[in-house]
Amino acid sequence: MGVSSFLPHLRHIKVTDTIVTDQTMTLVALTARKRAQCPLYHRWSKQVHSRYGRTIRDLPWAGRPVVIHVQVRRFFCRNARCLRRIFAERIPDLVDVRGRLAHPLRRALRRVGLALGARAGDRLAAPLGLPTRPRTLLRMLHALPEPEVLTPRVLGLDDFSFRRRLVFGTILIDLETRRVVDLLPERSVAVVAHWLRAHPGVAIAARDRNGSYAEGVRQGAPDAIQVADRFHVTQNVVEALERLLLHHDAARKQAAQILLPPSPLRPLAPWEQRAQAVSHQRQAPTVTTYERVWAMRAQGHDIAHIARTVGVGRPTVYRYLSMDRPPTRIRRPQRARRPIDPYVPYLLHRWDEGCRNARPTLARDPRHGLHAIQPDRGPPTHRLAPSGAERPQPDAAAQGESVDRAPGRLPVHRAA
Ligand SMILES: [Zn+2]
Repeated sequence: MGVSSFLPHLRHIKVTDTIVTDQTMTLVALTARKRAQCPLYHRWSKQVHSRYGRTIRDLPWAGRPVVIHVQVRRFFCRNARCLRRIFAERIPDLVDVRGRLAHPLRRALRRVGLALGARAGDRLAAPLGLPTRPRTLLRMLHALPEPEVLTPRVLGLDDFSFRRRLVFGTILIDLETRRVVDLLPERSVAVVAHWLRAHPGVAIAARDRNGSYAEGVRQGAPDAIQVADRFHVTQNVVEALERLLLHHDAARKQAAQILLPPSPLRPLAPWEQRAQAVSHQRQAPTVTTYERVWAMRAQGHDIAHIARTVGVGRPTVYRYLSMDRPPTRIRRPQRARRPIDPYVPYLLHRWDEGCRNARPTLARDPRHGLHAIQPDRGPPTHRLAPSGAERPQPDAAAQGESVDRAPGRLPVHRAA
């Protein structure tokens, strides 16, 4: 049995010597064929010009990395019109034209790289006798052709952002294989329709509630069935339930009493009592309106008349009549106060005036209660500070009055 039967990539070289050390195994070889073919016009030649050595790495034997030192020849081209005149013979079964890795080793490294990536692949390859470098693995992966993507039968469309909340693209996913099919630079009707026309065969398109995807699918794949994707169906249900439950406060509380263990009664803290009183006070007009709506309805007035008399829209009248008690106040979460908040109106004013540079603005304009501070020591830095107070006065804080709220010092335009 010849070597070439189980090592077919070595069939065109003749191994003349084998040197085995603890670390490596080296094969010394010659090319086996008598003649070679010019790469330009494919004419065969036997006329040897010179010889040179090539070093090629191969798969390990018994854990030892294998190096093949093979002597290759240069030939004269026998075609008088050939521009090459001299060409080097090739060993296409073993290695690429200028390659240093035998095909089997290259394939093995590529698989390692695909499975693990460059760094982890490098860590695994070394003890297996496949010496490489992370960068080599990366280069191999980048050189791979793009996998051909078949047009999915069930296509998911959704948006993603290149720049958060500023620039959006469209991601297309094969929902059966759960693989990303393509990324589009926009989320416009035209881009989606163009892609679908270029990839016919989508039977079902799952999308969000964005109208441009609906229109894009209608234009690009008119036969496809459009469905709302699971995420957005759930989101719709949650939003609808929230709207519904807001109007059935009593039932909600009753359900909570049944479902939740009774909590021990705790006296309200003074601030909670004050907050509750303010809340009741603010809700009073709503309660009055609600009661007037019901009273007028009981007297038999029609909706339009009630709305006109009470001074609310007809949808509100319908809503109040569908509720078994006055609507409760919906508290919006309060945004944390930012250090820059007191200065925002002034900064916007300067921006509108055309100023785009923070430092000169603040340094030049003390009349608005802002100026830049140059500390006596340390690196020059600019700080916002109220005029007349170069630094926050410690006693102001001690009096329970925060400096940036001190009246008369700053243009604070916040509604109380
Ligand atoms: Zn030639």
